[in-house]
Amino acid sequence: MSKEEKPLCKWDKEEIKDNLKELKKLVSAPRFVCRKCARAARKEAVLCKPEPLDEKKGEK
Ligand SMILES: [Zn+2]
Repeated sequence: MSKEEKPLCKWDKEEIKDNLKELKKLVSAPRFVCRKCARAARKEAVLCKPEPLDEKKGEK
């Protein structure tokens, strides 16, 4: 069973515990941050309000 369809933001304690290994993969080397929940992940699909972490490129 994969949790990839469900945003990390919506995981509850049990899901985190049951999918800890996958969670670690998803949050390692994050490229996106959730603007709503302040979570970070490698794939934007797992965040409810993804925002690219490297968006500051070009600014200042
Ligand atoms: Zn979120």
